[in-house]
Order: sequence, then structure tokens, then C-alpha cells
Amino acid sequence: MTINNYNNILVLAPHTDDGELGLGGTISQLIELGKKVTYVAFSTAQQSVPDGFPKDILKTEVKRATAKLGILPENLIIYDYEVRKLGYVRQEILEELIRLRKDNSFDLVFMPCLHDIHQDHTTIAQEGLRAFKNTTLLGYELIWNNLTFNAQCFVQLDKQHIKAKVEALKEYESQGARDYLSEEFLYSLAKSRGVQAGCPYAEAFEVIRLFL
Ligand SMILES: [Zn+2]
Repeated sequence: MTINNYNNILVLAPHTDDGELGLGGTISQLIELGKKVTYVAFSTAQQSVPDGFPKDILKTEVKRATAKLGILPENLIIYDYEVRKLGYVRQEILEELIRLRKDNSFDLVFMPCLHDIHQDHTTIAQEGLRAFKNTTLLGYELIWNNLTFNAQCFVQLDKQHIKAKVEALKEYESQGARDYLSEEFLYSLAKSRGVQAGCPYAEAFEVIRLFL
């Protein structure tokens, strides 16, 4: 079983940048393999945009970042739910996810892991689990939000994939110098996971549900 067994992949990102951070390298590899990758961002965090930037800057940045990874513009879906309040519209989000599931035939869904402590990430993980009952689900790693993380699944990557992830994340200029956006951190984590996985670089995932 390899990543090549999957053809129609969905990435659920509570906020713009979560998908690139959690699996930017894997997305880059999937695109290289000719797979269809759909990226859904639920909030553009207009309430958290720093002064001096347009309120919709994250919408612009996620378009640029996902394009850099090779995701087609028509496969990028952006919702405008309010940041930190995804839990308030939990049912609406669930219904959107079910609609997405019915309109597509995704065979692999990536979402935040079930032990992610950010309230918006928890909401997307729980509703994703509800909406995609018959699909393989993998939880991605965001170490600053993970209470625990079981590295049960690895995607083996090469340097070019992590480079693509780093380049994509450079598009998030409005997010400033956050530790987790630093190139050093991105390479270090991918290298650590690569050492575990016996390859140059890797990204790790929790297995939430697996169909063989
Ligand atoms: Zn987030």
C-alpha cells in the first residue's frame, strides 16, 4: 500500500496554511504523481489579520501557496467562517462536508488529528470523522497544537518536496515570523520524521481510519 494507491485526495484545513504545514511535502508528491488534490480552507481568519494588511489577505495567500504546490485553482475551496468559532457552526460545516463527499469520490482525506487542541481544528477533525465514514482518514501533524501524536503512518519524501512546502509557506507574509513557519523548523521536523522512516525526509500521520 503506497500513497500511489490513492487518486482523489481531499485536504481539510480549518485555516489557510494548516494544510501546507501539515502535509505540504505530501501534497507536492501527490501532484507530482498526477493525483487530484482538493484543498478546503474553512476560515480566512479575517479577525486575526495584523494591521497594515487587507482583511482578505489570507485568501490571496492561500491561493498563491496552494498554486505553488500545484493544486489547481478549481480544486481550492475557501469558506469564510469566523476564526475560533467553527464550533458555533458545527452542523453547517458537517452538511457542507457531506455535500462535498456526495459531489466527489474522494478516496483519501487528510484532516487535523483527533488530539489537536485548537478549537477550530477539533471541530474539523470531528466533523470530518462524521462526514467521511467510508473513506481512509489520516490526521496531520501540527506539533504546536498536538497534545499527543501517534506517528503511525509515514509518507517518504525527498528534499524537493520539502522545498516546495517551504516555498509555498513563504506566501504567508501576513503571518510574520512564526516559529513554525521558519525554514529551519520545517526541514528539521521533516528530517526527524525521515530518520524514523528510513528516508531523507518524511511527513507523519495518525491513522484515523484505514481501508485496504
Ligand atoms: Zn489552524
